[in-house]
Amino acid sequence: MGEPWAAAILAAVTMSVGAADLADREASAKARERARAAQVVAPPAADPAAPCRVASFAHGPSRSLGLPNRGRLTGGAVLPEETDAQFTFDLTTGLTPNPSWRRVGARRMVSLLGCVSTSFAAAHPEAERIGVADISRPFGGRFGRRYGGLGHSSHQNGLDVDVVYPRRDLCECPPDTPADIDPALAQDLVDRFVRAGAQYVFVSPTLYRAGRLRGPRGVVIPLAHHEDHIHVRIYDYDPRP
Ligand SMILES: [Zn+2]
Repeated sequence: MGEPWAAAILAAVTMSVGAADLADREASAKARERARAAQVVAPPAADPAAPCRVASFAHGPSRSLGLPNRGRLTGGAVLPEETDAQFTFDLTTGLTPNPSWRRVGARRMVSLLGCVSTSFAAAHPEAERIGVADISRPFGGRFGRRYGGLGHSSHQNGLDVDVVYPRRDLCECPPDTPADIDPALAQDLVDRFVRAGAQYVFVSPTLYRAGRLRGPRGVVIPLAHHEDHIHVRIYDYDPRP
């Protein structure tokens, strides 16, 4: 109850129902929300040749509230720690899998990752699996330095994800330098998110300046601290006509 709005609601409701009742209701509401957030969404058994699309804002029970850099998430889903097409990685510790509390997203983000990783694996059976790093915390909110590494200013409402670049040597680990990145596979990965309707894909300035990684202006954007992963943001609109 640290939020001012929550305190105001508490004050108003306490007059009619009593503090004990309210505490019970609040505890069960929190338990229900926690159970919903704990659900792991299996990747879709979709046709890997079918195009991936960002689902509309109204898709499923997740609600991304506020902004990517000042927001929260309800009804989120946990990305599976690994599938045949995808592994998870904690860029702050260098360990796999990424802890479940770092990989909670809006359901349409988790579905998108399942679709993109499945289609990428089908198109590149010789490649390593796609490595997914941080999405959001179970109820979103701040994900800064106190959670390890440089922290994130965004990743607060389940609509941002970091994805490790595919490496030339097929290691399921992030590249140590841009020279480790397989540029053709990286470009294909970026293209899949762009075609699906991503709002932004932030990429390695080194590869972008060298012309090894391209994309639509204003969507694919070089950004510091993205030499070992891309950052994909989806937003609250439906890109389909
Ligand atoms: Zn990021």
